[in-house]
Amino acid sequence: MNEPAATDHNGAGDPRADFPLLAREVHGKPLIYFDNANTAQKPRVVIEAVDRFYRHSNANVSRAVHTLGEEATSLYEGARDALARFVNAGSREEIVLTSGTTQAINLVAYSHLLPQLRPGDAIVTTCMEHHANIVPWQLVAARAGAIVKAAPIHADGTLDVDAFVALLTPEVRLAAVTHVSNVLGTINPVAQLAREARRRGIVLLVDGSQAAPHLPIDVRAIGCDFYAWTGHKLFGPTGTGALWARHELLQAMPPFFGGGEMIREVRFEGTTFADPPHRFEAGTPNIAGFVGLAAAIDYVQRVGLPRIGAIERDLLAHATEALQAVPGLRIFGTAPDKAAVISFLIDGVHAHDLATLLDHEGIAVRSGHHCAHPLMRFFGVPATLRASLAFYNTHEEIERFVSAIARVRRLLG
Ligand code: PMP
Repeated sequence: MNEPAATDHNGAGDPRADFPLLAREVHGKPLIYFDNANTAQKPRVVIEAVDRFYRHSNANVSRAVHTLGEEATSLYEGARDALARFVNAGSREEIVLTSGTTQAINLVAYSHLLPQLRPGDAIVTTCMEHHANIVPWQLVAARAGAIVKAAPIHADGTLDVDAFVALLTPEVRLAAVTHVSNVLGTINPVAQLAREARRRGIVLLVDGSQAAPHLPIDVRAIGCDFYAWTGHKLFGPTGTGALWARHELLQAMPPFFGGGEMIREVRFEGTTFADPPHRFEAGTPNIAGFVGLAAAIDYVQRVGLPRIGAIERDLLAHATEALQAVPGLRIFGTAPDKAAVISFLIDGVHAHDLATLLDHEGIAVRSGHHCAHPLMRFFGVPATLRASLAFYNTHEEIERFVSAIARVRRLLG
């Protein structure tokens, strides 16, 4: 049998062969990994970069002049360069390395927003957000006596843009919207929303967690003020992510975490702080993780986001059509512009039961509220099943998935 050839330096070849974990079995069946919106699998180049770092270059960053310290620092700072290029940032100083989107959004909430938030102010978000783009705003709003308002969505899972814009009134200090919904796959018109926010002098944060693995991102073309994303959905290690922010906003932000690495001079009479982005990176970071994330970005760029997008659109069309043919199956989120995420339920079948039975077939899908309680409430359901695809998934996997669902439906229905 011919082994599939892994991608070469130009990104050509079979990407599937680049992901060692995809070759394993679960319950004696070849694994079908359809939980990519939760976390993506890692290509060999990422695993090897992390391994190489610990075998060869491990040291702390910026605290040592010895060779290993310099190597570690230059690898870590190289990741910042890769992340800056990845979103077309104006400069590397606009990239704060974080543990993920959650930390990035909390940084904006506590450092940018809270100091200026007054009683009666408002924050606007949408009802399709992940809890990471709701709860931090609620926490700072509660401290300041401000409120959080959520723009509604249409039944097909698209944002009600007019309602969103209507909420952008003078007391709004910040708006926050997801680029791509983790439950519905909806791709929001973030450049249009940024224009509307800017026209009213309102700062816009975009949660790019689900966009970064699928779409080319250009923060300057979007025209937003903050863009947060996470490394582990982008085929990088867990515990990595980034915040891009306009430099003048970062300059004006006080520190959020205090500690080593973020100071200029520490005195008991008063401490002065480093310039951004280091002002926001207290303590020893996930150095090996960022080395891996830089390798992931390099890998994604070699394969090419346009190619990734084309493969995923094809898989999405196939899976949607095949699922729609299953009697009693309802898909949540049918926006014309959507990423390869399909949330669904089958009449009379509990989401967790179906997910458990699919696991026995070697198929990994997520069931639950997907950290989106308000969205579940909008659709009037406690949970959905979610199949989220990546470019390494195949049409054959979709066929196996849909026939397993049809079998299980007959068993449970
Ligand atoms: N926002 C969205 C849209 C997400 O899908 C996720 C992860 N499920 C997050 C934020 C949080 O990302 P992390 O847990 O990596 O911080």
